[in-house]
This record gives sequence, C-alpha cells and structure tokens, in this order.
Amino acid sequence: MKIRNIKPKEITDSRGNPTVEVEIETNKGKFSASVPSGASKGRYEALELRDDDGKGIKKAISNIKKIITPVLKNKEFISQKEVDEILIKLDGTENKSKLGVNAILPVSIAVCRSLAASEKLPLYAYIAKLAGLRNLLTLPLPCFNIINGGSHTENELDIQEFMVIPQKKYFRENLKIGSEIYQMLKNILVGQFDGKTVKMGDEGGFAPQFFKTEQALYILFSSMENHPDTKIGLDCAASHFYKEDGYHLDQQIFTRSRLLDFYKDIIDRFPIIFLEDPFSEDDWQGFEEIIKELSGKIDIIGDDLLATNIKRIKEAENKKACSGLILKPNQIGTVTETLEAAKLAKSYGWKILVSHRSGETCDDFIADLSVGVGADFIKSGAPVTPERMVKYNRLLEIEEEIHSKKQFNYV
Ligand code: PEP
Ligand code: MG
Repeated sequence: MKIRNIKPKEITDSRGNPTVEVEIETNKGKFSASVPSGASKGRYEALELRDDDGKGIKKAISNIKKIITPVLKNKEFISQKEVDEILIKLDGTENKSKLGVNAILPVSIAVCRSLAASEKLPLYAYIAKLAGLRNLLTLPLPCFNIINGGSHTENELDIQEFMVIPQKKYFRENLKIGSEIYQMLKNILVGQFDGKTVKMGDEGGFAPQFFKTEQALYILFSSMENHPDTKIGLDCAASHFYKEDGYHLDQQIFTRSRLLDFYKDIIDRFPIIFLEDPFSEDDWQGFEEIIKELSGKIDIIGDDLLATNIKRIKEAENKKACSGLILKPNQIGTVTETLEAAKLAKSYGWKILVSHRSGETCDDFIADLSVGVGADFIKSGAPVTPERMVKYNRLLEIEEEIHSKKQFNYV
C-alpha cells in the first residue's frame, strides 16, 4: 500500500467540541477516520493534544501536516505494525504527548482501513487476522447505557453508566430488545416526572434528577420487565467520585470497605454481571479486595485503572485486580497497541469490553474492532443518536455478512 496523501481536518464531536478527522489517499482509494474524546478520562491515558485554550485542535492538525505526513507520504507499507511503529517513534514519548493521540490514532485507523482493502478483507476480518483470531468470528453483547450520571451529565447520580445487556444469541435481537427497554424506560420516567421531559446525558441515556444509585437501579430494573433474562452492567467510574477523604457516593462518604459492602448489596439484589472501575484508578487495594470477594459472581472490568496500557494490564494480572479490560483505542494511540492490549487480556482469560467515548463522532471503527478481537461486549451508549447508532448499525451489517459467508465460523 502506498500512501499518496494525508489530509487532516477539524470536525465537531457529539458534545460540540472540535476533533480530528483524517483522510488518507492510497493506491487503494481514500480512507477516513476520526477520533472521539472522553469526559471522564483516566490519568493514565495517552494525551489528547489541545491548543492553549484547552479546546482547539490546531496543534494536532499541524502535527499531522508537518511531522507525520512528510514521513509517510509517497512511501510503501505492507503492515499496520510498520506504520504504527513509525508513528510511535515520531512521537517518542510514553503517553503520546508530543504529537497527541488525536493526531496519531486517526492516521493509524485510516491506514488500517486501507490495508484491509489491500488484502480484500472486510475491516473486522483484517483486524481478526492481525489479532490472530481468524476463524471464529463472534458478535459482542451490546451494553446500552440508558441511565447517565457522573461526569456525563449534571444530575446527582454519582455512578456514571447504568447499562442493560440483553442476552440473546443474535446481535439484531439484542439491539431490538435494547431499543424496547429504552422506550419503556422513557415511558416510566415520563410517568414519574409528571409528563415533564427528562434530560438526556452525553451518551443518549436519560439523566433523571435522582439522588440515590438505588433509585436508578429500581427504575432500570422495571424497564426490563418484558425481558427478564436481560442483565445489568455498571460503569461506576469511581475515580471521579473519589476525593481525599473517601468515596463521595449518594450524598455520603464511603470508605473502601463500606463501598465494597455497598457493591455486594446491590449485586445481591439486581442482576448485575459486571462492575467497571468500582474503585479509583490508584486504589489497587480496592480492586484486589473486590476480586477476592466477588470473582466468580461478577466481572470486574478496568477502564481508568488500565487505560488500554500493556504495563497496567500486566500489573493488574499480577495483583489479581481485574477480570476484564475496557478497550479504547484513543487511550493508547495506535491500532497495533490496541490489539496488543486485547491479546494480552485474552491470554489471561479476561473479558473484553470495547468502548466508545462520551464525546463521539460517526466513525464506526470500534464495531469492526469488537468483532476482530472477539470481544465479549461493546458499549456505544443508548440506542439513539447517530454517533452511537452508527456502531450498532455496523454490527448489524457485520452479523449479516458473517452469516452469509460459510468460511466464517460464526457461533
Ligand atoms: C467511560 O468511562 O467508560 C466512558 C466511555 O466515558 P468517557 O469517554 O467520558 O471517558
Ligand atoms: Mg469507564
């Protein structure tokens, strides 16, 4: 594959903030990619480069034009690794702080799309090949974040994401159930708030003015009434309600051990199958204790804790602190590093949850990524709004394609 040109431009994400889109022109055609942006970012994530005003992305665009393009343009590449290694080297920092993850990742993803085209493979199949997962293509279970709290809205809920996870065999059935539960929740909330419209959070879920986690869980559970085998997953995003004096949850201050008791209680009463970031990103002890108490019952998934970073994933395995990985390409910066993180987590027997960010674009790369790495779950918010639906709709398309092709052994 020969890169003929790289054209970066500014687009606007779902929160109305500027972000980067790149179009690369190769001998195989034109391929685009854009990058999302988190609001509840972890401290160990790669750096998203912003201008001095804290918002603009002119520096990132300039890095693509002045540093990345001259090195890649008019060169031939045969592998993703080759390109990603150049990008990593050009940056040369631990956390991509020279060029910015928002300059590096869109180039890496657009290259991935072009290389897939060179190999005449659908993107998910090419990623599966890179990840060493060729013949067993499966669709992830979608986790629909339909009640929003934490940094994704202005209500009093401290837990960030209340997700429903339908358990049917086919993705299309799970998407349909997710939408039905969302509609049901809407009706229940309209009733509860005397017909007044309930605000939406950043990920398309409702952000009712609730004060206690339990209120949200009860309403969520009621909305699942017609689909009783559906499960619940919570992204506690606890780094963001942790302060020096403890965990500030439900208008109280919890110690680590009281917070663990709180989780044990809700797990006994609701069909929760995983907790993401139940403790803060530096509270290894919290993670170790919850795994000791609850492994086998539910999964403990690391997001801010792990930051899609090989070193932190290894540390978590050594400490027995997690049983699952949140996989977010823009936490680490290149497709190759993302796949390495997924492979390592898989080698430990962990679950993989591929995730969007709260500020999204209409790029659907993570849908193909989730199939390519054989992820257990994907989260792309509530089943509404184009930037969330584009990922779910791409998965519908992939499911159709896998079913119609006998060489893919779909289970
Ligand atoms: C998350 O914490 O899992 C998440 C998607 O939020 P953000 O993109 O705001 O980090
Ligand atoms: Mg999270």
